[in-house]
Amino acid sequence: MATEILDTVADTPQVRQTQLLIDGKWVDAISGKTFATINPATEEVIAEVAEGDAADIDLAVKAARKAFESGPWSKMDARDRGRLIYRLADLIEENIEELAALESLDNGKPIRDSRAADLPLVIDCLRYYAGWADKIEGTTIPIRGNHFCYTRREPLGVAGQIIPWNFPLLMVAWKWAPALTAGCTIVMKPAEQTPLSCLRLAELALEAGIPPGVINVVPGYGPTAGAALVKHPDVDKIAFTGEDATAKIIMADAAATLKRLTFELGGKSPNVVFADCDLDAAVAGAEFGLFFNQGQCCCAGSRLFVEESVHEEFVAKIAAKAAARKLGNPLNPETTQGPQVDQAQMEKILSYIQKGTDAGAKCVTGGSRFGSKGYFVEPTIFDHVTDEMSIATDEIFGPVLSILPFKNMEEVVARANNTHFGLAAAVWTSDVKKAHLMADRIKAGTVWVNCYDVFDAAAPFGGFKRSGIGRELGAAGLASYTELKTVTMNLD
Ligand code: ADP
Repeated sequence: MATEILDTVADTPQVRQTQLLIDGKWVDAISGKTFATINPATEEVIAEVAEGDAADIDLAVKAARKAFESGPWSKMDARDRGRLIYRLADLIEENIEELAALESLDNGKPIRDSRAADLPLVIDCLRYYAGWADKIEGTTIPIRGNHFCYTRREPLGVAGQIIPWNFPLLMVAWKWAPALTAGCTIVMKPAEQTPLSCLRLAELALEAGIPPGVINVVPGYGPTAGAALVKHPDVDKIAFTGEDATAKIIMADAAATLKRLTFELGGKSPNVVFADCDLDAAVAGAEFGLFFNQGQCCCAGSRLFVEESVHEEFVAKIAAKAAARKLGNPLNPETTQGPQVDQAQMEKILSYIQKGTDAGAKCVTGGSRFGSKGYFVEPTIFDHVTDEMSIATDEIFGPVLSILPFKNMEEVVARANNTHFGLAAAVWTSDVKKAHLMADRIKAGTVWVNCYDVFDAAAPFGGFKRSGIGRELGAAGLASYTELKTVTMNLD
């Protein structure tokens, strides 16, 4: 079983910012309300944070509108805008230890992951997009008649951005970087569970010289601050990452003002292991693909299809790996699995574990809460899961892996695609033809072959079906913060 809770070894970071950022100023909520952000490893309050609602959102949107229409952001040369985004990336790099610790404190993710994955990806994303700033070009189009026709890509305007708690800083980077690069201004609502690192990043953005009003941050709850942002008539676009159930509410709320929407939602990603693969690599990839970030990834490989002839050997190997994970204080660099983000998530996961047991799946490791303080859940694996069990159909968002044996490619393609989701998938095989056929047939926005969770700011990410609308990252992510204008001149 997993080891003991480890002692703290990294310094607990100082919390510097807990207010709203509106028009370049740190302010309390108009209502004066605050909410507590909790350390999920200890269940103790880290800090009280200003709780924004509709009135604060309105001020933030006004500031963003002013910065967009008449402020320095829209007048600045594109290359200079890019330089400020590079500067922000540099400042994050200079403060990487503090930010990594703050992220682990508020979210519960192991410090080794914050340092090695989240922060480097944040910096890379900002630098990738900063380089685009002076390369957003239109085309000339040979239309009929004596006309000169060309297109321009213009910034969309004020972007409302609503993010979840699983990768708080990385989600900020994925949202801010393309929006800033395109020349948009921003009102962001971070998740109520994890507001701290976003506020610190906003402080660094001001220090980098990004002008007041360009980035506004309003922490608060979804149905109040979030919904007010979605409904606000002066917001041009909502970029949302979160649950599909929330996306449905946002889509309905956005209908009255016909806002542009990009959604990055949930998944139940199939991870398909063929018998001809490098089995140890597949075991390591399957462990990482599911248990990374405590299973709190929208693209988690939570349906693990294993070809029958290697099924038993595979299950034994991955169960041993799961059982060897080190649960403990996220600030200890030895820890490989931290707590779930909050009590509600922990309880939801435990209820799915119960459902899996009740449905007759075989629990080969884990299956319980770990310890009695902090929201820890044991790495859990169910074998002999069948397609209709809720642990095979529903997004659990926790360290619970379902293993489903299969016989052949035709069968596994049909079963892998038999879901409303379509965010990601992976295939493990040494047969290149099989790999290409699977990449062709799986309905998902990302297909990894002999790897898992390989992310890059240049590679588009998003979902087929109910896993999303539009794409983030890469050129597609940038385009979603622009309007395309066609200009036609009469040359007669
Ligand atoms: P989770 O259940 O994993 O927290 P959510 O989709 O509920 O996922 O949350 C993602 C983000 O969406 C959070 O910032 C949350 O506050 C916000 N949110 C929740 N409900 C709404 C809503 N009705 N309108 C706008 N934003 C919302």
